[in-house]
Amino acid sequence: MIDTHCHVDLFDDPLGMAKKMERAQMQCIAVTMLPSHYRLGLPHLAAFDNVHAALGLHPLRIAEGERELGDFASLSTACEFIGEIGLDFSREGRSTKSRQVEVLDRILQSVKGRKFVTVHSRDAAPTLLQMLADAGVGSICFHYFTGSQSVATAAIDAGHFFSFNRRMLMGRQSALLETIPRDRVLVESDGPFLTKVPINATKDTYSLIADRWCLSVPETVAIISQNFKACRTSD
Ligand SMILES: [Zn+2]
Repeated sequence: MIDTHCHVDLFDDPLGMAKKMERAQMQCIAVTMLPSHYRLGLPHLAAFDNVHAALGLHPLRIAEGERELGDFASLSTACEFIGEIGLDFSREGRSTKSRQVEVLDRILQSVKGRKFVTVHSRDAAPTLLQMLADAGVGSICFHYFTGSQSVATAAIDAGHFFSFNRRMLMGRQSALLETIPRDRVLVESDGPFLTKVPINATKDTYSLIADRWCLSVPETVAIISQNFKACRTSD
C-alpha cells in the first residue's frame, strides 16, 4: 500500500512514525512544507526503503518559501518526489494570492522529469490546472481535491491523478470517487492533520475504495500501485 501524502515530520515522533511505516511495509511519500524542512529530514530518511522524503514549498508558508526558492530549484534536481506545493485561495491564503502564483510559476519549472508531485489546491484548482497546462507539467496528483466536478473532469482530461483520504470517502465528497477513472485514483492519509494513525487510515481507505469498486483489497492495491507508477511528470 502507498500513502501518497503524509506529513511525517509534523508528528510528535517523526522517526518513530517512519519506523512504524517501514515495519508495516507501508510506502509513504513524506511531504514537507519548506525546502529547509526537506533538507533536515533527508539524512534521517535516507536509510528507509519505504518512506520517501518529498521536497515541498507550501502555499501557506509563502513568506519563508520565497526566501527558499533557490534551494527548491537546486534540491529538486536530485529529488524524485515533490510535495507539498500548490495554491491556497481560501480565506487563509487569499491575501498572498499573487505571491503564491509567482512562486508556483518558478517552482513548476523544476518539477519536470518523471517526478511524483502532490499538490494542494484549496479554492484554487482552476488556476492551478491552468498553470500546470501553461508550464507543460503533466500527470501530477491533486491531494484532498475539493474543487467542482467540471474542474475534476478537466484535470482528468489533462492526465492528472487524485489522492483520496478516509474523510473524503466518508463525507459528502464521496461521490467524487464514482467520477474518477480507476486508473487515476491514489490514496493518502494526510496525517497528522486528518489522522494520528496514518497506517490504519490508509488501510481503511484502501478497504473503502475496494468496497466501492466491488474488488478485493489485493486487487485494489494492485491497481493503485500501478497508478502510482504512472503518476509522473513529463520530461
Ligand atoms: Zn498536506
